[in-house]
Amino acid sequence: MMSESDPTLRPDPLPEDNRAEDDRALRPQSLDDFTGQEEARANLRVFIESAKMRGEAMDHVLFHGPPGLGKTTLAQIMAKELGVGFRMTSGPVLAKAGDLAAILTNLEAQDVLFIDEIHRLSPVVEEILYPALEDFELDLVIGQGPAARTMRIELQPFTLIGATTRLGLLTTPLRDRFGIPTRLNFYTIQELDKIVARGARLAKIEADPKGTAEIAKRARGTPRIAGRLLRRVIDFAVVEGDGRLTQEIADSALTRLGVDALGLDGADRRYLSLIAENYHGGPVGIETIAAALAEPRDALEEVIEPYLLQQGLVARTPRGRMLAHKGWTHLGLDAPEWDDRASGTASKRSDPAKPSDQAKRSDQGGLF
Ligand code: ADP
Repeated sequence: MMSESDPTLRPDPLPEDNRAEDDRALRPQSLDDFTGQEEARANLRVFIESAKMRGEAMDHVLFHGPPGLGKTTLAQIMAKELGVGFRMTSGPVLAKAGDLAAILTNLEAQDVLFIDEIHRLSPVVEEILYPALEDFELDLVIGQGPAARTMRIELQPFTLIGATTRLGLLTTPLRDRFGIPTRLNFYTIQELDKIVARGARLAKIEADPKGTAEIAKRARGTPRIAGRLLRRVIDFAVVEGDGRLTQEIADSALTRLGVDALGLDGADRRYLSLIAENYHGGPVGIETIAAALAEPRDALEEVIEPYLLQQGLVARTPRGRMLAHKGWTHLGLDAPEWDDRASGTASKRSDPAKPSDQAKRSDQGGLF
């Protein structure tokens, strides 16, 4: 996929995320422990409390938002707070209707079933999910041809928590069956700072506030990336420093990993440079960008673009993607004089932006 980029910097899960002891310890265990997503947490707390008071299964929840923001973590916390069992699977794993039926029939009353990447459920599986969600019933077809018959199975009431990075790819009937759709947003630097400081404490590493802040600033708004960068910076602190997490160590480690001042990596910068250099800032269609970068379109829309859009580096227009004023500046380039399309300030600027040393240096790629 991201051939030239360092997987450390991508928000998708890596095997090491689940294996590493420290990562498991990092996972917040309760809603109070969970930093950020204030609005979502406040609402969930009410729904959890109400379900517990009524002694009923909580309504189905859909988490959507970019990878690594805590959808799985929140689902686990909810099961814990509800005091019920937790089962976890994912859209691509459930190939046949029978796979889902086996899981559903094994759920106990009020259990939480978590389906990750729910936009990738196959239509046959989705079909049997509808009555399960609405009436806690399964309609299974037994046998084939003229001998086939339908069997109805009663299920225990349960709560489905679905997670998706691509709300737009969910079918409308499936989306409509979630009573509680919840969007997760990128984290603020302050929130990430708290998460990094907590991680350093758990790893028993002495950390300067400026050191944790440096990681937080460069974590792409994503706790999963913050956790990973912290682990890498600790490696450098232990081997090349005196074991303390300082701003100096964080800055040099992250720069060597190819993470620039805004937290962008080589893949992000290739995306921005392509629009700047080959398409004069755009607009250029997503398919064209995907082909030119040899990246799947999905990966661009799911992983790369959300943060660049949120940071105001690119803009999405009906005619394609465009580099915004901040995107030109970040690359150390001048926005074209005539370019006041993506930002009203480009043509009025008198001082051309100095090339950013940081961006330049880290463009040479990381160590890994
Ligand atoms: P998603 O399911 O959205 O891809 P996860 O729930 O797997 O994301 O979270 C990714 C990583 O980030 C996990 O290691 C988790 O411990 C950590 N994490 C997520 N949200 C938080 C948070 N609010 N505070 C601390 N750590 C977090």
